[in-house]
Amino acid sequence: ALHAALAVPAARPSGEREIPAVLGADLEVPVKGGRLVRYANLDYAASAPCLEPVSAAVAAALPAYSSVHRGAGYASQLTTARYERARHTVRAFVGARPDDAVVFTRNTTDATNLLARALPEGTTAVVFDTEHHASLLPWADAVRLAPPAFPGEAVRAVDEALTGIDGPALLVVTAASNVTGELWPIAALAHIAHRHGARILVDAAQLVPHRRVNLTALDLDYVVFSGHKLYAPFGAGALVGRADWLAAAQPYLRGGGAVKAVGDAGDTAGTEWYDDPEARHEAGTPNVLGAIALAAACDALTATGWTALVREEERLVARLRAGLDGVEGVHQLSLWDRDHPRVGIVSFVVDGHTAREVAEALSSEYGIGVRDGKFCAHPFVRHLLGAKDGGCDDVTASAVRASIGIGTTDEHIDRLITALKELTSR
Ligand code: PLP
Repeated sequence: ALHAALAVPAARPSGEREIPAVLGADLEVPVKGGRLVRYANLDYAASAPCLEPVSAAVAAALPAYSSVHRGAGYASQLTTARYERARHTVRAFVGARPDDAVVFTRNTTDATNLLARALPEGTTAVVFDTEHHASLLPWADAVRLAPPAFPGEAVRAVDEALTGIDGPALLVVTAASNVTGELWPIAALAHIAHRHGARILVDAAQLVPHRRVNLTALDLDYVVFSGHKLYAPFGAGALVGRADWLAAAQPYLRGGGAVKAVGDAGDTAGTEWYDDPEARHEAGTPNVLGAIALAAACDALTATGWTALVREEERLVARLRAGLDGVEGVHQLSLWDRDHPRVGIVSFVVDGHTAREVAEALSSEYGIGVRDGKFCAHPFVRHLLGAKDGGCDDVTASAVRASIGIGTTDEHIDRLITALKELTSR
């Protein structure tokens, strides 16, 4: 019965499946004048909508769940099997090595902070100012690098920074920028980090929804990402990578499930933590449904096939960028060459309007959801805009971000372009 309950529909033998649908595609939202219009969600980089197969996997798990790893009952066994299968799926999804740890976390931020607490004594982090705050802030000791003018300069800057560091070092770098969508040269950066005996942590929050990632092939030490950007609901993410530091580190979340035994002393002196890095760093009852959802999203993307997903995304990004090029007064943001490869994220500014004004008008008049602000990457956005640090409330140093994925249509993009043309010609 356990086996039957765990069965998943097999991929079509013919190869790639159709691109799955997202929930909420027919959502209608009110705009000025009281009209209802179909919501055009262009805010995938914040959180992507849930895929239908993800919703189905959660619905299938709901009728019989119980806490994992502890109970002898059927529901507990079934839930444990589903949870561990989710771990296996995530491992395969990112091409992890057999001895890598897959720790379920709350999100990317949680995963990065977990690794930050597990670094060997004296480790220096090396991080570019272009990072999301989740990658920029967790480090006790960090060397910050200025935004590189071109990808090769990123490699050179890391080479130079690591040359000056004695002791263990960790390079922390995004795979795809949440501001510009640009892809970073992570294989070259991994290579240079390893030449210096350092390790590399890749923030893959914006990569995994758009491109295949393979830890083994790219020779990455760690990747972190969030389920809610990967077409699953909120609350589950993962840290995947080398097990040794994690197996040796004191857990920063302490409690049941992380310990083999606790003595009577009343402090942690008599406590024996699990050697298994996953158990050690997943204290408390885990977010099993979140892990199941995250794994179902991995399965759905893998079954669809990256060729079809990337082809469709590139078509939509080209349409979006060409459309924006055609609107006078709109300027797209790039760190590097305009044609440098990027995922479905495009940020821009509009002459004569603050980003907030544009985003609010797009929402209230056209039913379009975008993000505006500094995208939790304040130093990077300021750099792109050539702005000084004017504090969080400085609305002039802000941009609008349109981001796309599965479920985005030509009509969503065309509506954005029409809306911007109308806004800029008022
Ligand atoms: N890293 C990048 C590149 C992101 O875009 C985000 C989310 O915006 C994060 C990290 C943090 O993700 P979360 O808020 O899910 O922890």
